[in-house]
Amino acid sequence: MLSEAVQRCRGCDLYRNATQAVFGDLEAGSAVRHPRVDLMLIGEQPGDSEDREGHPFVGPAGKLLDKCLEEAGIDRRRVYVTNAVKHFKWEPRGKRRIHKKPSLREMHACRPWLDAELETVGPKVIVCLGATAAQALLGSGFKVTQAHGKVQRVAGSPPVVATWHPSAILRAPTDEERHSQMRALVEDLRAAAKTAGTAGKVSRRKSGLK
Ligand code: SF4
Repeated sequence: MLSEAVQRCRGCDLYRNATQAVFGDLEAGSAVRHPRVDLMLIGEQPGDSEDREGHPFVGPAGKLLDKCLEEAGIDRRRVYVTNAVKHFKWEPRGKRRIHKKPSLREMHACRPWLDAELETVGPKVIVCLGATAAQALLGSGFKVTQAHGKVQRVAGSPPVVATWHPSAILRAPTDEERHSQMRALVEDLRAAAKTAGTAGKVSRRKSGLK
């Protein structure tokens, strides 16, 4: 099983200070696990809560993502959610563990796990949440601010739609900016669902991930 094999990965040093590797999953606690899905959402890396709980997007950013998916008419339990990098990279600040952006080398080292997920899940559309995931799939020159919500065609890959990372929205300096980015995220998710041919009703199918 991929989700067990990733726990033994030593492809870079990030495993040393993390609790566990966090592999893609459906909504934490969902009774329906790993169906074949239409949308695959890819973030950057697990955060503090994800590292402890072992599931992606279960912290504050995950709650915001749930809200935006709901507003877009998409059921998170029907969507595969994962990260480009599987171990939490952090630095201490007092008693807190503060997120640290993964390096290019770490992203490259982790890419085979993302490719294995993509191949197994077989989504119709990939949604990159934030610049790290977008640049991993669309190249280092890709700018989410300029091209979010636009369907990108990539040879040998399902269509890709890039959008804001929910953590970036939480860090927005003003309420106005936060609301504007949230609206953009919801619209971009709708565009991805439309491209998948589901128009907000993402269907459930069987998967052989586990
Ligand atoms: S971050 Fe990725 S490549 Fe590095 S040890 Fe973890 S699973 Fe392996």
